[in-house]
Amino acid sequence: MRLSDYTTLRLGGPARRFVRAGTEEDLIEAVRAADSGGEPALILGGGSNLVVADEGFDGTVIQVATKGVRQHGEPGLVTVAAGEDWDAVVAWTLAAGLAGLECLSGIPGLAGATPIQNVGAYGQDVSQTITQVRAYDRTAAAIVTIPNDRCGFGYRTSRFRRSAGRFVVLSVTFRLAEQRASEPVRYAELATALGVAIGDRVASAEARSAVLELRRRKGMVIDPADPDTRSVGSFFVNPVLDAAALAAVEAAARARCGDGSRVPRFDAGDGLVKVPAAWLIERAGFAKGYSPGDGARISAKHTLALVNSGSATTAALMALAREIRDGVSDTFGVSLTPEPDLVGVAL
Ligand SMILES: Cc1cc2nc3c(=O)[nH]c(=O)nc-3n(C[C@H](O)[C@H](O)[C@H](O)COP(=O)(O)OP(=O)(O)OC[C@H]3O[C@@H](n4cnc5c(N)ncnc54)[C@H](O)[C@@H]3O)c2cc1C
Repeated sequence: MRLSDYTTLRLGGPARRFVRAGTEEDLIEAVRAADSGGEPALILGGGSNLVVADEGFDGTVIQVATKGVRQHGEPGLVTVAAGEDWDAVVAWTLAAGLAGLECLSGIPGLAGATPIQNVGAYGQDVSQTITQVRAYDRTAAAIVTIPNDRCGFGYRTSRFRRSAGRFVVLSVTFRLAEQRASEPVRYAELATALGVAIGDRVASAEARSAVLELRRRKGMVIDPADPDTRSVGSFFVNPVLDAAALAAVEAAARARCGDGSRVPRFDAGDGLVKVPAAWLIERAGFAKGYSPGDGARISAKHTLALVNSGSATTAALMALAREIRDGVSDTFGVSLTPEPDLVGVAL
């Protein structure tokens, strides 16, 4: 059983054991059995945010395959089993006349992984609509229900991610708006594509189509016919900088790109700004399509996506990631951190 068959990068060596869990009981039992035997366990969703070593995983891989989407209780409350395909869930909510997830269309993977890194795109992230997460707590060996304000959500992070595998997400509950109109459009590129102003609403189905179109152009919707989608999406998170770090980047940018160059930035609150990692990578000399020639390359459509062109190994992909990280650090003094979870490898 090679994990390359289960990751969107199509990379990763063998698993010692592989269990597919179709029910919550099976999922918990598989995790319990591994934990009580002192066996390492890797919870696998759609494999779209995982970089697995060529040597594979010396433990039990537990694939989440639980199903179920239901509306219940108050209007707009929807509970989704961890194993549901995320984009199908988004499409289902829109068809049911519920808004709040439309900008998260086209993101690969399963619903249970969405709270882990607080999945987000085009102005929405799941922390805005999640009310609670039900999980199996491996430390307490018990099922727990964690309300939103105790999920520790931040930019591409959460309590689940920080606790490094302690919680196995069983289901996620969202509170969505009962309306056919989208939530207000918050992302400039999406607003431009829709021909509306920031803060306007459109039909939520229209927002979904525009997001999918924008994502396809960037190779951010999985398409077996498009090798630029053999990735984990963004490989690096956008660095969040304080005023001093931003000033240093601005000085480096002027030195490298001329006096007129302006470093793009987005407000990140508390006097911090988020700078696009793609901008830093390009200005550090790594263009779209760049390849050291060993099968790993930068996507031809998006500088932030590192791609397996077909013949890469995980070692080659990680070497490319290191080269980019070091180039950005040398040029701008900014240390990029990886977005995906690294299994058996390190940057
Ligand atoms: C083309 C492409 C585009 C992408 N675009 C975006 C984007 O726009 N925004 C964004 O935020 N992300 C994006 N991603 C990243 C990825 O799709 C998301 O992080 C997604 O939520 C991962 O889901 P998964 O089921 O594939 O998780 P996996 O890759 O299988 O797992 C990721 C991590 O979560 C853990 N995990 C998975 N399921 C569970 C569970 N039930 N309980 C506990 N832990 C679990 C795994 O152990 C692992 O540590 C993109 C990826 C690709 C390939």
